Amino acid sequence: MIIEPKTRGFICTTAHPDGCAANVREQIDYVKSQPAMANPPKNVLVIGSSTGYGLSSRIVPAFAGGASTVGVFFEKPPTERKTASAGWYNTAAFEEEAEKAGIYAKSFNGDAFSNEIKDQVIATIKADLGKIDTVVYSLASPRRMDPTDGETYKSVLKPIGEPYTQKNLNTESGVVDEITIEPCTEEEIAHTVKVMGGEDWELWMNALAEADVLADGVKTVAYSYIGPELTFPIYTNGTIGKAKEHVEESAARLNEKFGDGTAVVSVNKALVTQASSAIPVVPLYISLLYKVMKEAGNHEGCIEQIQRLFSDHLASANGPTIDEKGRIRIDDWEMSEAVQKPVHEKWAEVNTENLSQISDFSGYRDEFLKLFGFGAQGVDYSAEVNQEKPIISVS
Ligand code: NAD
Repeated sequence: MIIEPKTRGFICTTAHPDGCAANVREQIDYVKSQPAMANPPKNVLVIGSSTGYGLSSRIVPAFAGGASTVGVFFEKPPTERKTASAGWYNTAAFEEEAEKAGIYAKSFNGDAFSNEIKDQVIATIKADLGKIDTVVYSLASPRRMDPTDGETYKSVLKPIGEPYTQKNLNTESGVVDEITIEPCTEEEIAHTVKVMGGEDWELWMNALAEADVLADGVKTVAYSYIGPELTFPIYTNGTIGKAKEHVEESAARLNEKFGDGTAVVSVNKALVTQASSAIPVVPLYISLLYKVMKEAGNHEGCIEQIQRLFSDHLASANGPTIDEKGRIRIDDWEMSEAVQKPVHEKWAEVNTENLSQISDFSGYRDEFLKLFGFGAQGVDYSAEVNQEKPIISVS
């Protein structure tokens, strides 16, 4: 079939296998161009490994140090009439490249929150790898079925206590207007914490420990975001912020159980991903942020962020550098005064008319389409392509 982007708001319902493969190869090439790491991991489990930060978290250890990786994700396989979701094609390409390089890779497409997937992953680790030394938790999901009570919880992106009014960008039309989001209920906070908090991260670590597949000195990392004050009501002080607080509490509990330094939260930069494009206000902030950081020469994508996470922290000679709350801060360049000051000045000015001059909205749009494999160099998008791309190892 000939595959074109079909976007609806912050969703694209098609994905291009060759474009996704080109993106994965670009990330691999970047990692290979970087200096060797002091302490590269050997056996890595990545939960949420098919797109965004998780995909890069699989590519970096595999191609920086030849690590064996097990990846878990929830993606749509292709059918006769429909393309797969992007994460499926990303994983198919990752596995092809890993196989060419002689690097072990095994993938699980299913619900990471379920006991079944945990059991299957553990059985594979036992049989193939023995133990794992690094666990990356990079899930972003709108819902979770808790296997203990069978109930499905839904996360929401809402402020707490009072309505939040802020500038907002309609990323389809390019119109900047204002949005008011009504505050959440107590139940919505609890549900968001259930989905995006650290409970499932702890369940994974406890299940892996019980099965005796964690190596001595195992490290685990989960991702968080803080961002500027202007997004605090919808992010850090909103429902998702409560979930991220819970992730930090989970890290503390894991450290108490498995020893200090086992679990760490890494606060990452705001980037265009499938998860972040769904958050109100954030796409406008990202468009301004990209403009400022690209001009300053310190813009990073997921792969540069995660390369830095491993080389400077997780796989460095001296271990991670942490802030006063015990977190790794690879959002340091985003949060620097030199970046935040001009972003805030532009925020005050930005409107529909000046959007393309003072922000990197075109970069935002390109990045968004790139998530689904569109706009890659060297890919002929007018050509027929077979959408039925298998993943070598998928269970
Ligand atoms: P993403 O949407 O690109 O990736 C989410 C991953 O989770 C995918 O691999 C998807 O398949 C998987 N997934 C979702 N539901 C699943 C399920 N039930 N079972 C198995 N796999 C499932 O998201 P992302 O932006 O890379 O986010 C990853 C983490 O990074 C999140 O914790 C997010 O809060 C954090 N983070 C994101 C940003 C950002 O700007 N994007 C910034 C800082 C931190």
